[in-house]
Amino acid sequence: PQSLLRVEHLTVLLPATGAADPVLDDVSFSVRPGRTTGLIGESGSGKTMLAMAVIGLLPAGASCTGRILLRDEDLLTAGEARRRRVRGREIAMIFQDPLSALNPSQRIGRQVGEFLRRNGSSRAEADRAAVGLLTRAGIPDAQRRAGDYPHQFSGGMRQRAMIAMALAGGPSLLLADEPTTALDVTVQARILRLLRALQDESDMSMLLVSHDLRVMSHVSHDLVVLYAGRVCERGPTRELLRAPRHPYTRALAASVPAVRTRNTLAATLPGAPASPLARPSGCPFHPRCPMARERCATEVPALREVAAGRWSACHFAEEIPA
Ligand code: SF4
Repeated sequence: PQSLLRVEHLTVLLPATGAADPVLDDVSFSVRPGRTTGLIGESGSGKTMLAMAVIGLLPAGASCTGRILLRDEDLLTAGEARRRRVRGREIAMIFQDPLSALNPSQRIGRQVGEFLRRNGSSRAEADRAAVGLLTRAGIPDAQRRAGDYPHQFSGGMRQRAMIAMALAGGPSLLLADEPTTALDVTVQARILRLLRALQDESDMSMLLVSHDLRVMSHVSHDLVVLYAGRVCERGPTRELLRAPRHPYTRALAASVPAVRTRNTLAATLPGAPASPLARPSGCPFHPRCPMARERCATEVPALREVAAGRWSACHFAEEIPA
């Protein structure tokens, strides 16, 4: 298949917030087998909500339309029992803060082996497999470290333990929400290298959520840029960063010195990011956009293919200098 995961026209409303506007509005993108798709956006862009929707953990009362297809199965209409089976086994997740996901009073090895225990392995088998998984996640002396508690691990080692746990079910999709944000830069680079190596050896797909374009430029094959709950641009990472087709992506790329673009737009954008709960009319980016014209304040730009494989939601995508 062309894609492992396909999100089609996903719209999510959270009536509990009192907002009439959807937090995610008509979002579509895909993740290819064995490849990484990066979801990038500022806080409030809806990227974490999108990750939660994919893994089936939206807040209670959320109402969704559209489809989330894993291979060809729509996870939005699948029953809760099926979704629980998908979680952990086919889609696993790692978070920014492994400490909150790990049980402080249980040895690391036991936690890593828990999935296998729940699925019929004996304690001895699960313990042995856990050591193997910790080793794959790059934890030295895993046999001994499996007996440690989370507080005896450094931040980077805890993230590796989380990754080991995520690998236990042999997932075809790993969802990583800001997996390196809490780590210092060298540890960050090592974790990203690990994720790439694991992907190479197992052909696992990844959906990586981050606000950090530098992280994305190293790891993602494809990028989806979110702004105020909508996709403003998507396409292959390299091309997208080299020649953005949306003023917002252009500004993002220009603000990261390590990401080289052919243009030199002012690095800082005026104003604060728009919230999807109070989305500006027309193009949600118009209050901050250096290219905005009258039409932008009233007419919502459709996401359209502006070149092969390149999608942009800007009325004037063709006028953006290359
Ligand atoms: Fe800017 Fe208008 Fe394009 Fe929106 S549609 S990004 S406001 S030029």
